[in-house]
Amino acid sequence: METLHPASTAELVDLVRRANEDDRRLLVVGGRRHVDRGNPVEVDAELWTTQLDRLVAYEPAEMVVVVEAGMRVGDLERVLLEGGQEWPVDAPADATVGGVIASGASSPRRLRLGAVRDSVLEAEVVTGDGRLIRSGARTVKNVTGYDLHKLVAGSLGTLGVIAQVALKVRPLPRATRTLRFDRASLDVARSLLASVAGAAGILATPDGVELRLEGWDEEVEDQLAAARAVAEPSDEPETYPSSRPWDGHQVVAELAVPPSSLGAVLEGETAFGALTGVGIAWVGLEDEASLTSLRARAAQVDGIAPAVRGPGGLGDTSLAAPDVHRRLKDAFDPNGVLAPGRGWGGI
Ligand SMILES: Cc1cc2nc3c(=O)[nH]c(=O)nc-3n(C[C@H](O)[C@H](O)[C@H](O)COP(=O)(O)OP(=O)(O)OC[C@H]3O[C@@H](n4cnc5c(N)ncnc54)[C@H](O)[C@@H]3O)c2cc1C
Repeated sequence: METLHPASTAELVDLVRRANEDDRRLLVVGGRRHVDRGNPVEVDAELWTTQLDRLVAYEPAEMVVVVEAGMRVGDLERVLLEGGQEWPVDAPADATVGGVIASGASSPRRLRLGAVRDSVLEAEVVTGDGRLIRSGARTVKNVTGYDLHKLVAGSLGTLGVIAQVALKVRPLPRATRTLRFDRASLDVARSLLASVAGAAGILATPDGVELRLEGWDEEVEDQLAAARAVAEPSDEPETYPSSRPWDGHQVVAELAVPPSSLGAVLEGETAFGALTGVGIAWVGLEDEASLTSLRARAAQVDGIAPAVRGPGGLGDTSLAAPDVHRRLKDAFDPNGVLAPGRGWGGI
């Protein structure tokens, strides 16, 4: 497979325009950590973003960093550490900023920190037909215009190539604690959710529950007391999450259901991590048949279970407002250059 390596936005624009002229299909690739997410499609070349990796601007006082989209998450982490800040996505160090945004990856701390798209203040995107557009602004309080920069979050590289982004970052928390409750059930996780105000994350696995606390010293002490009133922790691991039972499986699905349905949909599963209060769970599966069965249970509560590792694609979940998705694809990528068929609804 041919690979293309633009080292500037101008080169990126040029490569995408040429693909339009030559009627070639491109798959955008960052760190390759999530390329299985999306329907499998044939392309003519891979467009690698990893040479677009410059730091454009960083003002710690503004809590905004501007980077090219191919910058590795680990490199950004090091830059921000010097300012005592973080972009709290918790993705692997070799994933790219653009890949995290385009795959709409969820952090295990999503309960408190929200969705990754909300950290994107501004984006420069090269559309499928080779136009360079900019949306948003480098300020946190920005209310004008359409949020096109949020539209590319989760778009799996099917609308445009993210070239550069301005990200909202946050101060590193003063205090952090992870509490582990061995053999605790999803019911305990739910009690923790109800009792511990402002928890950063509550991950339930088949082996127990992990509670992540972050904030000011006093705040974390209060949360700790509230958690102990629910159950006595077994230990305090250094990392959160301290175990990932879904890792190492041939097929991993990212389940998304109403939070109250997590328990019912995960019934019988043996290798999951469920984000209580969020409704997202990573589920390790043996094969595609188990994926089909999980999807059927998810569909009963209007949920989805795209594969993030292994075969299976996004599944045949019916898309809300398919016409809108189709029109967006036509507007951004009229010639179908960016991996047509890869997105939701086969768009
Ligand atoms: C807490 C956490 C833990 C994770 N752990 C793992 C793990 O252990 N193993 C693992 O494999 N993954 C893991 N992931 C998922 C993975 O980190 C993310 O999905 C990842 O950030 C993808 O980045 P990437 O650069 O590897 O993108 P890629 O995998 O290269 O691409 C992902 C998607 O984004 C598109 N894309 C990439 N760059 C751009 C761009 N600039 N513009 C437009 N579209 C683009 C691609 O076309 C593709 O559809 C984890 C995620 C989180 C949040």
